[in-house]
Amino acid sequence: MEYLASDARYSQMLYRRCGNSGINLPAISLGLWHNFGSVDDFKNSQQILRRAFDLGITHFDLANNYGPPPGSAEETFGAMIEKDFKSYRDEMIISTKAGYTMWPGPYGDWGSKKYLVASLNQSLKRLKLDYVDVFYSHRPDPNTPIEETMTALDLLVRQGKALYVGISNYSAEQTEKAIQILRSLGTPCLIHQPRYSMFDRWVENGLLDVLERNSVGSIVFSPLAQGLLTDRYLKGIPQDSRAAKPHGFLQQNQITVEVLRKIEALNALAKERNQTLAQMAIAWLLKDSRVTSVLVGVSSTSQLEGCVDALNNLSFSLIELENIEKILAMRIE
Ligand code: NDP
Repeated sequence: MEYLASDARYSQMLYRRCGNSGINLPAISLGLWHNFGSVDDFKNSQQILRRAFDLGITHFDLANNYGPPPGSAEETFGAMIEKDFKSYRDEMIISTKAGYTMWPGPYGDWGSKKYLVASLNQSLKRLKLDYVDVFYSHRPDPNTPIEETMTALDLLVRQGKALYVGISNYSAEQTEKAIQILRSLGTPCLIHQPRYSMFDRWVENGLLDVLERNSVGSIVFSPLAQGLLTDRYLKGIPQDSRAAKPHGFLQQNQITVEVLRKIEALNALAKERNQTLAQMAIAWLLKDSRVTSVLVGVSSTSQLEGCVDALNNLSFSLIELENIEKILAMRIE
């Protein structure tokens, strides 16, 4: 059936300014790392993407290697652009990245200009787009001068293949350097994409300060720790969960007794707030104004709706925050 976007799509979502740029991002964005590959059910992927857009999610995050197989999430999204979203392209911020292994030989990985330029050209074909809104260096490359990687990003903007650039998984020090180089080239860094959740707080040790000082936005990935910070694993490992899938990145050995005890305690606290654990985990990230957007992954439209409902309660009392800290500090030998 032909897709017509909901007229109410901008009535519920919250938009936050990305650093000091002209771009506002939805407080909740959708990532296509899992659940959009050619191994997944296209109908389900289509329903999630349609529902996301109807809920005011204007930002969709991809990478060259998302699938599996690598490249197929971009192909799924490209098919959706053709089928459903062509007339809505100007309402969307679409990002992709290069930095992990994509093709054999010395030019299909990391951060050389050779790889980044070739990869974005390939991504645009799969996405059926003339340009992406944001192109990222997916990870720092210890063997390529950072100047070369940043010059490649700048070049792609000048070629009109990307409007903005970002970096992902760069440390605080590497980020400071990348921001300065990009600024000197005349292509400011729009955004950093780091992992951040209640279970992984490395960004609090310097990175968020660097971003704030330089007025660069952030979009945080795996905010639900790949599903751990939800009710998904409270009663075992469901068959259709990421931890049970052969190609899922979440490993069953990450679901330890200590993690389970924390999830149970956090779940009880979320209930007292009339939220699900997933909603509380998202709200907890959005309480920091340095976080522009929370980048979720979902395997169903109902999960997506659940995530967006986090916006109904974003505030925490001091006691709630203290209790969360206590739970996160719990140790079980
Ligand atoms: P999340 O931490 O949001 O985990 C997503 C998983 O959580 C879902 O697949 C689902 O698990 C579960 N889930 C989501 N919503 C709910 C809900 N409401 N109730 C119960 N369970 C829920 O994020 P991801 O790890 O998927 O990462 C999100 C995005 O971040 C990626 O798609 C990608 O765009 C980006 N990313 C970037 C990286 C980088 O290096 N730059 C690395 C990793 C991710 P289930 O499938 O079991 O149902």
